[in-house]
Formats: sequence, structure tokens, C-alpha cells
Amino acid sequence: MIDGRTQLTGLIGWPVEHSLSPAMQNAAFSEAGLNWCYVPLPTPPEKLEDALRGLVALGFRGVNVTIPHKQAVIPLLDSVSPNARALGAVNTIFFQRTADGKTHMYGENTDEEGFIDALHRVGVHFGSSDSAIIVGAGGAARAVLSSLMKMNLKEVYVLNRNEERARLLVQELTAAQDTATTEVHALALSDDALVELAQTASLLVNATPVGTMPNVDKSVWPDKAPVPGHLVVFDLVYNPRSTRLLQQARASLARGVDGLEMLVQQGALAFEFWTGKPAPVQTMRAACLERLGR
Ligand code: NAP
Repeated sequence: MIDGRTQLTGLIGWPVEHSLSPAMQNAAFSEAGLNWCYVPLPTPPEKLEDALRGLVALGFRGVNVTIPHKQAVIPLLDSVSPNARALGAVNTIFFQRTADGKTHMYGENTDEEGFIDALHRVGVHFGSSDSAIIVGAGGAARAVLSSLMKMNLKEVYVLNRNEERARLLVQELTAAQDTATTEVHALALSDDALVELAQTASLLVNATPVGTMPNVDKSVWPDKAPVPGHLVVFDLVYNPRSTRLLQQARASLARGVDGLEMLVQQGALAFEFWTGKPAPVQTMRAACLERLGR
């Protein structure tokens, strides 16, 4: 029950109405017996700075950050973790009360670890003999590319509709991870490039919203060619879970991984970061599945 002692958390983004995070985090607080609450906080870009000041004034404990604020929020925070700094994106903020009564805004990124945890949970491991393709060059692609570089993959190809954006992403992350041995390439997204690279890659990640509800008949993979059966296909989209891309992968007996587990794992890390308690991951997964109608 919400009362005068309820601790507040939430999600800032624009838009936020389709997010599963309120259902997932509120179920987790309830399961952990915490008098905490998580609310969607629709925040237009021009109001981001005001919104952060408001959250501090209202005594919020933490918030998640989603599209389009993950990069824009960084200069507005007091400090960010080395991980979030190297990634250039924050998806979780912790409001820390200091001894002098002030509030320190600390930014972290749990997407990268969420992606790695999700891969490991489904029993998939990659190393220095593997190459991967990422379709997309936005915030999610940033976390995925950084994870794959930390796994020391041999090569990663970033294919994006806007090739310049892919180039910039590759430039920034190779500069930030200057000890990484992975060779990273940026290319314009085309059916031919995707199909050709997939013949020898181990992993294909869809880091675009293509295939998300209601556009469920769309896929980044073209109809003209089958998905190579050896490929692991990780679709970051989680609504629906069985996207057209994953259906194409499974039709070739390729391994398909949906985006729900990454969502749950990044949410679990944020929960632990704010509360200092272990996250009830099963409850969080069940709450998401319930919201997705399963
Ligand atoms: P973002 O920063 O807005 O980037 C979107 C990317 O998708 C851009 O590279 C964009 O290309 C590309 N794109 C958009 N529409 C496209 C289309 N019709 N055809 C080809 N490319 C297209 O978004 P994001 O934060 O990276 O999120 C991307 C997706 O990942 C979303 O669906 C999000 O829900 C999902 N996601 C899932 C998780 C999870 O935990 N499972 C976590 C984060 C994100 P241009 O640069 O050419 O515009």
C-alpha cells in the first residue's frame, strides 16, 4: 500500500506508456516486501533537466532512463560510472543523499551486463574465434557492441540504415575501449551485406525496433534467403517475443533468443543497485510475461 513512507522510483523517457518496467519493478518490490513504488514518468526532451531537478526535490530514490534520454542525461548528472562513461549512455540513475543534505545524481548502465547475463542464461558463449553482426547503431547497439568487444570477439560488423551513425558509434567505442582486440566495422544496412556476412558470423543481433508490435510482419532479415542454420539470432525486441526475425531463424533451425531476458536482467541489476537487495528475478520475469499476455 502506498503511504507517507513509500520510496519512489520510475522511468523517464518519451514515450513510456508501453514499458513493461513498472509491472516488473512493482512486482519485485512487492515480492521483496519493500514499501517502494515505480511509476512511468513521460519526459519530453526539452523538459529533461527540469524533470531531474523535480525528482531530486521530491526525494526519488532512482529512475531508469530510456529513449531518447540515455545520452542526453549524462552532462546533467553529478557523476557516472566508468562503464556508463565508456559506453556514452546511462539507463539507471541513483539519487544519493549526502551528509550535508544534498542529493548526488549518479548514472550507471545495466544494459550491457543485462545483454551478457541474458546470453549466458540461455547457455550461449562467444569468444575470439567468433564474429557477429549488429543491425542498428542506437543506444541498444552501443551496449551490445561494447559487450561483444569485452568478450574479445574476432570481428563485429555494425550495419545501420544511417551509415554515418554506425561509423560514429564504431569510432567512439573503439576509442573508449582502446585495449580491445576486436576488429569493428561500420556498414550501410543492405539485404546483400547482411546475408553475405551471416554466412560466416556466429551471432546476429537485431538492435532496431523493426518487428515490434504492431509491425509484427516486419523483419531486418530479407525473404529472399534463409537464415543460416548455424547462426544464433538475438532479437532485442520483446513485444512480441516471437518476432518475425525469430520465426525466420527457427524455420532454418537457427537458435533464436528474444529480448525479454535482457529486459529482465537489466531491470534486476537496477533493482539491486537502488535497494541493495537481491532481485526476485523469477517474479520480475513472470510479471513481464503476464503483461505480454502469456
Ligand atoms: P534508438 O537509439 O532509437 O536506435 C534505433 C536504431 O534502430 C537506429 O540504429 C535506427 O537506425 C534503427 N532503425 C529504426 N527503425 C528502423 C527501420 N525501419 N529499419 C532499419 N533500421 C531502423 O533505439 P535503441 O534504444 O537502440 O533500441 C532499439 C531496440 O532495442 C528497441 O526496439 C528497444 O525496445 C530494444 N531494446 C531492448 C532492450 C532489452 O532489454 N531487450 C534494451 C534496450 C533496447 P537509424 O540510425 O538509421 O535511424
